[in-house]
Amino acid sequence: MDELNKNNLELELISYDAGGFIAANRNIFNNIDLSDNSKFIINQALKGTPMIKMGNGYPQVMMVAGVHGNELAPQIAALRLIDKLFHMELNGTLYIIPFASPKSTMDNSRYFDGIDLNRSSHLPNTVTNLILNKAMELNVSAIGDFHSSAPNSNPGKEGVFCTQNPCNASFYIADFISKKVGSEKIIYPVAGIPFKGALEDESNLKQIPSVTCEVLSAVGYSNEKICKRSYLQMIAFLEYFGIID
Ligand SMILES: [Zn+2]
Repeated sequence: MDELNKNNLELELISYDAGGFIAANRNIFNNIDLSDNSKFIINQALKGTPMIKMGNGYPQVMMVAGVHGNELAPQIAALRLIDKLFHMELNGTLYIIPFASPKSTMDNSRYFDGIDLNRSSHLPNTVTNLILNKAMELNVSAIGDFHSSAPNSNPGKEGVFCTQNPCNASFYIADFISKKVGSEKIIYPVAGIPFKGALEDESNLKQIPSVTCEVLSAVGYSNEKICKRSYLQMIAFLEYFGIID
């Protein structure tokens, strides 16, 4: 870990390509509680993709938001979660990436340099590929990837994507979150089909159980109610692993 703020928040930059000025996107910035932690993270995001480590020991899990920069609710919820967990004793370690691609968030865009980062995690040195490599290096037990979905897109509803093969723990995580929060479970039989390059799919293919959580939101937009749904999915993900009670 290479950076500390005055709260001793442990932060590491994963990709130095994807830095961006989050505050330039008023649609997200106006919804962020500007705590010391949030300000520190937003500042570091100018330089690249920030990953924050919270807690210690096992289990170790990773949570990601902002793989699609214009899906705002999960990114806001992730900052809120960091502030909440910061005051708690965790039973394990959370690596949390609130802005996978700060540049995409700045641009309020689904894409990074024309690339859909949730279709390119299998390609060397893309931002999501670096995130996946970091997850493997850290030997995390799971990845939760948090998105939002517009009403007329896929899935176009609140849901939790999972796959049964080759990593059926993905299914059990989704089942838990679905029951706890009320998000619909969306099951695919085999990872990588039809979503080749999705962070969730490529993670499952590498035997790191993974789910994709979606809340319903217009792109490039958020409000309190939508953020709360994403936040509850995040809490349920942590509860599944017993990291919080
Ligand atoms: Zn998305």
